[in-house]
Amino acid sequence: MKRFTGNFTQQEPISEDGIAAAVDVLRSGRIHRYNSLAGETSIVSALEAEYAAYQGAKFCLACASGGYAMSVCLRAAGLAPGAVVLTNAFTLAPVPGAIVSAGGRPVLVEITNDLVIDLDDLARKVDLTGARFLLLSNMRGHLANMERLQALIEKTGVTLIEDCAHTMGATWNGVKSGNFGLAGCFSTQTYKHMNSGEGGLITSNDPQFMARAIILSGSYMLYERHGAAPDKSVFDTVRLETPNMSGRMDNLRAAILRPQLASLEANIGRWNDRYRVIERTLKSIPQVHVPERPDEERYVGSSIQFCIPGISADAAQRFVAANFDRGVELKWFGADVPIAFTSNHHSWRYFEPQPMPVTDEVLSGLFDMRIPLTFTLEDCELIADVIADCVRNLCRGEP
Ligand SMILES: *Cc1c(COP(=O)(O)O)cnc(C)c1O
Repeated sequence: MKRFTGNFTQQEPISEDGIAAAVDVLRSGRIHRYNSLAGETSIVSALEAEYAAYQGAKFCLACASGGYAMSVCLRAAGLAPGAVVLTNAFTLAPVPGAIVSAGGRPVLVEITNDLVIDLDDLARKVDLTGARFLLLSNMRGHLANMERLQALIEKTGVTLIEDCAHTMGATWNGVKSGNFGLAGCFSTQTYKHMNSGEGGLITSNDPQFMARAIILSGSYMLYERHGAAPDKSVFDTVRLETPNMSGRMDNLRAAILRPQLASLEANIGRWNDRYRVIERTLKSIPQVHVPERPDEERYVGSSIQFCIPGISADAAQRFVAANFDRGVELKWFGADVPIAFTSNHHSWRYFEPQPMPVTDEVLSGLFDMRIPLTFTLEDCELIADVIADCVRNLCRGEP
């Protein structure tokens, strides 16, 4: 019987040039982003300039985490206390957490079988609640029809902030994820597309918004030293009216991120090679639905999702256990208790419960798996074979 012995949470090591850059920062003792010598550009500022260029955005702010990035964006966008923020019901816990941390009230929107926000339900909820903000979570890297979404945003005047934790480097019709609304939020936490342990990036083309975000992030009055910031004059109107909510990135993290940014495009290719090997086998299993990847989308296959529609909770648990016994770690989003990183809207009891029948139906059969770059293509074939075996056993009623 085939068995996989690799580790689903093992990322690649930091490259030698990243390690060397980190050691240089440590030797200098100048770890704080504003602790630079006269005329020196800090490493965080250099990263901001490079990420803005990569993203094709005018401005970029590096900060403490992806969750922090989202809450700062909501504040900088002018979210009023108690105001509604729409978000898709299928997302990760930091998303509703960021809304609540910024003083907003999460209102959930249904998702489709292909795991993206349901644009019809979104239109309904905008009408129903009068919401002025959408924090769109491009959960697990799946992009909705972004032209339709943008048309809706423009028609209703809703402010769009994108959670691109899983879409760093992804595009829709050639436009980078994160460039569709007011701002894009990215995470450089270990399990995302660049790894600094913790970290976040915000991009935007709006000078007023970015000036507020920079002051909020804890820039003191040193905003002129930023790497991709609006003109100094923009800060005149906001600098004394915006609170400091410290959440900066430091030079050590930026030092290990810069070489990773240089290899991001190559890594996207490597992720997608692995994704396609697994997808090919999963698609050949009649009981399994693999979400459609539209031609408009350039995705980053750093994880894969599939549904077994109609599977019972009991069978889903047995299926996860059977895979686990053979070394394959699947997450199931239908569980009624939150496990590790995997929770669903039923466990977010700090805001009012909202019935999400369509999303619940999708989640009840939804399985999710990480694809770290430490896996070889042969590993991916083996993993897909194990999953296929377990589906066959499931259908035969075997454990
Ligand atoms: C990881 C993640 C974030 C941000 O996470 P941090 O741990 O705060 O950097 C946001 N949204 C999604 C969907 C995520 O998976």
